[in-house]
Amino acid sequence: MLEVKDLVAAVDGKTILNGISLTINPGEVHAIMGPNGSGKSTLANVLAGRDDYEVISGSVTFKGYDLFELEPEERAREGIFLAFQYPVEIPGVSNMQFLKASVDAVRKHRELSELDAPTFMKMAREKCKELSLKPEFLKRGVNEGFSGGEKKRNEILQMALLEPSLCLLDETDSGLDIDALQVAAEGVNALRDEARSFIVVTHYQRLLNYIVPDYVHVLAGGKIVKSGGRELALELEEKGYSWIQ
Ligand code: ADP
Ligand code: MG
Ligand code: MG
Repeated sequence: MLEVKDLVAAVDGKTILNGISLTINPGEVHAIMGPNGSGKSTLANVLAGRDDYEVISGSVTFKGYDLFELEPEERAREGIFLAFQYPVEIPGVSNMQFLKASVDAVRKHRELSELDAPTFMKMAREKCKELSLKPEFLKRGVNEGFSGGEKKRNEILQMALLEPSLCLLDETDSGLDIDALQVAAEGVNALRDEARSFIVVTHYQRLLNYIVPDYVHVLAGGKIVKSGGRELALELEEKGYSWIQ
């Protein structure tokens, strides 16, 4: 699914990622943990192709493509999805319009027929229900006036409708109370299957009680300093990050 080799990347002329290598097979869930400022969001943003992030060296192969040859929107159509740490509000664009346009673009790329509006509405409403979002959220501007937790669940709603092959979740747990966290985790778990892969960025191990990862990597100073199974997350909870750095 994804092969990252010796990735070095900078933001604002400052090198943040200092040689990351990571292999993700279909169906695997990899958690990226690490202290604040270690480069977790930078890694997610570089993979999604967000502006302002400069790749200095290294390579990333996604489903056999050279990832850096693809524009961000091409990466999205090919199945990369980033759930933002700080979801953006887009006033004036209804959530429903936004979701429909996104799903239309992805389906077209996959050579699937366009869903008619009633079929799509029905699907979107069902997914809303699963994520404990009221159907009114579909009519409001994208994330406009949503609470922190609602924004995060709205990211999972997008993900559920787009059915990406590589899901990047950047601190989806931050700002969620325990009930919302469980709902969001169930939404993610419902999408787990043998073909779909996940990179779950989190500062805390709590999320990983609900989304149980296959591998855990610790990022510090823009490098993966330790990798292990899910027990590594428990060890980090107990001992903090300082022993590893
Ligand atoms: P994490 O997600 O692990 O908390 P980030 O990837 O957000 O870490 O940030 C890593 C480092 O890069 C931090 O020192 C941060 O200040 C810096 N950084 C991130 N984004 C920017 C930006 N847009 N401009 C300047 N520095 C940035
Ligand atoms: Mg942070
Ligand atoms: Mg971050």
